Amino acid sequence: MTAISHQSANSELRQGNQKIRARHDNVMMPNYAPMEIVPDRGEGAWLWDRDGTRFLDFAAGIAVSALGHAPKVLQEVLADQASRFWHVSNLMTNEPAIELADTLCGLTFAERAFFCNSGAEANEAALKLARRFAFENAGAEKDEIIAFENGFHGRTFFTVCVGGQEKYSNGFGPKPGGISHLPWNDISALEESISDRTCAVILEPVQGEGGVNPADHNFLRAARALCDRHHALLIFDEIQTGIGRSGKLYTYEWSNVVPDILTTAKGLGGGFPVAAMLTTARISESLAVGTHGSTFGGNPLACVVANRVLQELTQTGLLESVTPKSDQLMQGLADLNSRHHMFTEIRGCGLLIGCQLSSTYAGRAGELMKACMDQGLLALVAGPDVLRLAPPLIITEQEISSGLEKIDAAVVSLH
Ligand code: PLP
Repeated sequence: MTAISHQSANSELRQGNQKIRARHDNVMMPNYAPMEIVPDRGEGAWLWDRDGTRFLDFAAGIAVSALGHAPKVLQEVLADQASRFWHVSNLMTNEPAIELADTLCGLTFAERAFFCNSGAEANEAALKLARRFAFENAGAEKDEIIAFENGFHGRTFFTVCVGGQEKYSNGFGPKPGGISHLPWNDISALEESISDRTCAVILEPVQGEGGVNPADHNFLRAARALCDRHHALLIFDEIQTGIGRSGKLYTYEWSNVVPDILTTAKGLGGGFPVAAMLTTARISESLAVGTHGSTFGGNPLACVVANRVLQELTQTGLLESVTPKSDQLMQGLADLNSRHHMFTEIRGCGLLIGCQLSSTYAGRAGELMKACMDQGLLALVAGPDVLRLAPPLIITEQEISSGLEKIDAAVVSLH
């Protein structure tokens, strides 16, 4: 009797994907068009949907789930903190936030951390800090921000206008001024545009959303030198490239070009919302008491989880495993491409990889992503012409091989 009622309750709960997806449009804002996959549970690099289909996840929730789905180590710290206290606000001294700040400062160039809840908020804070620092140290005239075409920095109005894709920022009324967008990796354009009125140059060491376009190290070195010459702050948006995704904790370590401000989010919480803006003690002085804030920033649940993510990454050999995994994935993609000739370039850094479609397949990245899904592989796009792969960092050699087989089959299905 008990067994039967348990079973019927369960099957009621286990409505199919389609039925649940049908409810989406009736109650959710129309700004997303999700696929008809309704996740039910996840483990490691695998995700099961409400119909019981299993997917190998090379998307990781858009480069977020660094330790995979529902990692035990994070469950433990989350449950422990949840049994103690969840929220304290910024009115009290927040020990979990101090611990996380200590860890982040110990692992990077930074000496101070500001916590918030999303990448956009971290960039919003970074841009406000840069403007404020210039205002206090050089005056109101020094307010210009240089950003790059195809850059992406979030969806608050300031950050989306700093991002270099007008399709995201047009149609929302007057934009904040003092922002210019230069061609990516173009040292001469930067030399010509930067001046003593520039307060900040902001860039992603690898443009993620804009097509997985790595910055040339020479370009980064030039940006650093030009910022120094004009007393402008160099901001690295490492929201997508950070937390080990490139094979280093932060991508700036590959070039040895150290920014003045770094923003981090996505993988930091392994799926729990948390973000940080990191900087030096001297620059941080411009965000004096009352100049900026966030009710939820530094949430204790988020901070203990992030601290554990960093511990796992840096103390278990996981970080060091990223480059060999990347080599395997890159080589496998090159091999399958030598048979199918679908991509003109396979680029990226670590486990953030973009496959540029050849002109024959122009505009079909979405279709290829869907074909991967049909093969049981979750992937991403970065614009209409780039298939983007960002598996969890805990992905195994065997899972990479399996993912490559699925991509191969997806590519064949598109021919
Ligand atoms: N910056 C970069 C480089 C990103 O890739 C993203 C998100 O894709 C953001 C900022 C915005 O982060 P969030 O969506 O958490 O606000």
